[in-house]
Amino acid sequence: MPLVNMNELVTIAKKNNVILPAYNTTNVEMTLAIMDAFEKAGMPGIVQIAPTNVKLTGYDYIAQTTAMAAEKYITPFALHLDHGKTLEDVRQAVMAGFTSVMIDGAALPFEENIRFSRQAVDFAHCYGVPVEAELGAIKGKEDDHVSEADSHTNPNQVAEFCERTGCDLLAVSIGNVHGLEEKPKIDLDCLKEIVAVSPVPLVLHGGSGIPDETLRAMRDYNMIKINIASDLRQAFIRAVAKRHQENPNEANLASVLLDARAAVTEVAYNKTMAINA
Ligand SMILES: [Zn+2]
Repeated sequence: MPLVNMNELVTIAKKNNVILPAYNTTNVEMTLAIMDAFEKAGMPGIVQIAPTNVKLTGYDYIAQTTAMAAEKYITPFALHLDHGKTLEDVRQAVMAGFTSVMIDGAALPFEENIRFSRQAVDFAHCYGVPVEAELGAIKGKEDDHVSEADSHTNPNQVAEFCERTGCDLLAVSIGNVHGLEEKPKIDLDCLKEIVAVSPVPLVLHGGSGIPDETLRAMRDYNMIKINIASDLRQAFIRAVAKRHQENPNEANLASVLLDARAAVTEVAYNKTMAINA
């Protein structure tokens, strides 16, 4: 089916009391692997990509190949821009056909983050595209996106931030980290305080490395979207490395990529099922 709007996916997820995993793609093989996993799990899902990975091919290429791939599946998929860092990132994603975007102003002071996020919302909403904004900085390293800052989302700022930005989803910092180098330490009490005042559903970044039962517990706290990147990327890279190790003269690229795709599907499928068990 055609790509669906994130608002629609959120409605489906709420109705069925499920958390939507959002898996990061890099190339067509990753996209297909992710879609295979959702289809196998019988779950709607999110394919997302950050500008750090879009740079390999470009927004149009990603939007068109993902939309073309989605047509072959019965499962509804949204295509989300992860960590849009500039208004130009958001503009390009929306114009290319992404059905959801994130604006990441988390490193900015509170008032500036509001102004910046509001600009993204004003633009994206003109095209009916929902926006995820972020309040509180998430520590860690993911590709060339690095943040030393680590400040938990302040529950006292949540309602005002959501109202003034008009954001549709809120990414929170509650001890979650990007990448696999730092260890996450989830503060469920902080999450409880946030959920009590947030007018919009929440998003957790850095889902790789957090125990499944902790992720599952978040279903009770309006956590609607959990981002997972590193686990899938490692599965892909390891599968390629394994083939090279087995045969340093391997030249059958299609066969190697099929292995990598299957490895990513397995990890994504298991994660999808575990989060919603
Ligand atoms: Zn993130």
